[in-house]
Amino acid sequence: TKSNVSDNAVPTFVITKGQIMLKNDLLEQWDRENFLHPSTHLAQHARGESPARIVTGGKGCHITDRDGNRLLDAFAGLYCVNVGYGRDEIADAIAAQAKELAYYHAYVGHGTEASITLSKMVLDRAPDHMSKVYFGLSGSDANETNIKLVWYYNNIRGLPEKKKIISRWRGYHGSGLMSGSLTGLELFHKKFDLPLTQVLHTEAPYYYRRADRNQSEAEFTAYCAAELEALIEREGADTVAAFIGEPMLGTGGIVPPPAGYWEAIQPILEKHDILLIADEVITGFGRLGTMFGSTHYGIKPDIITIAKGLTSAYAPLSGSIISDKVWQVLEQGTDENGPLGHGWTYSAHPIGAAAGVANLKLLDSLNLVSNAGAMGAYFVKAMQDALGDHPHVGDVRGEGMMCAVELVEDRDNRVYFDPAKKVTYGIVADMAQVGLIGRAMPQGDIIGFAPPLCLTRPEADEIVAKTAKAIKAHFD
Ligand code: PLP
Repeated sequence: TKSNVSDNAVPTFVITKGQIMLKNDLLEQWDRENFLHPSTHLAQHARGESPARIVTGGKGCHITDRDGNRLLDAFAGLYCVNVGYGRDEIADAIAAQAKELAYYHAYVGHGTEASITLSKMVLDRAPDHMSKVYFGLSGSDANETNIKLVWYYNNIRGLPEKKKIISRWRGYHGSGLMSGSLTGLELFHKKFDLPLTQVLHTEAPYYYRRADRNQSEAEFTAYCAAELEALIEREGADTVAAFIGEPMLGTGGIVPPPAGYWEAIQPILEKHDILLIADEVITGFGRLGTMFGSTHYGIKPDIITIAKGLTSAYAPLSGSIISDKVWQVLEQGTDENGPLGHGWTYSAHPIGAAAGVANLKLLDSLNLVSNAGAMGAYFVKAMQDALGDHPHVGDVRGEGMMCAVELVEDRDNRVYFDPAKKVTYGIVADMAQVGLIGRAMPQGDIIGFAPPLCLTRPEADEIVAKTAKAIKAHFD
């Protein structure tokens, strides 16, 4: 039953220490009664059986909550607050844009100073063969756009049968109808009638979890490539349009690819005239210590998906960066068919674009891409040194400012825990109790870290010390 919103329940604003604070004792109750949260156990949340947190502030790598806790956010929200919280430069740019021009659309050739400037800044940073950028709002909608563009591309080329998309198990590409289909995690398919029939999944590039433990890393890479080629041949290359992959697996487990993976995959795609979409929603704009993950791994994509790090999540904005090769066909397509029948009201929203311009300037002026590489390497190594020998730690891995600790029941025989035990959820809750946010990844007992790129050495040390302590205490 719902509580009545009576006059005395209406929030009042009070000024404390110069800040406007919302003071309303019913907020938690309103949350449970009214708010349908994404990626949440809805029933437990509504019944008040699961923990909740009302976040009120952020500065640098820390957030504060309504109960007065200050936590080191070692996941940067959802791997997105790359420049850190509380940056006035971005907040001021958003405010200035909102006052000057809060909105205008980008249809039929309209633009704003912010959106045009940002398109130039994105292309200046992207690999040389990229040609144009389309702006959306989320990583999910950017991948919806990408698949529509891929289908349009093959229709214009007179290849109407060439439409299937290959993704990897454990890939994460969003949670829309198409993007959720591309995602290769069971939770995002089950009971949603996904994946759509046009989507196929191939082997996850996840060496630790290989089925055949006798395979060397090189043999496993060759196996992934052979599996991909066999799938293409089974389906018929004339029915396969594109392959999508994150340069390094993110939500599927934070897993760097096995050595030689991209070198082995790309020639197969080229041979069969299959486009390559690099989903750089996490890796774009510095997270691996390079501006793009594609450069990091020597990938030459036809389309790049961007979001998160584009604005450091100060405002919603995503993008699809299109190569010269794809652009030429899109040009031909509109000459033959008229305007592109695709767009959102909020495509290239000026407030998101203003946030993006200020964010990319900050990324450069604070040298955050290089910090992500150097501090990230220090952080991953420190985590390996602290936990690498623990009997319930199967693997500690990472690249740039991304790190994962994988827990196992039996390390020598690589026996995983029963998922029902939810081992990592308990440990992550214990870490939060001592002021550290890590993430229990959705599939497998994996604790993930993706801190803001401005992480300092004392903060890296604190993450490692608190994580190691929580894991050790859990198994004592
Ligand atoms: N692609 C990748 C690689 C992601 O990590 C995510 C989100 O985590 C998405 C796409 C979806 O982005 P969004 O949640 O903004 O829709």
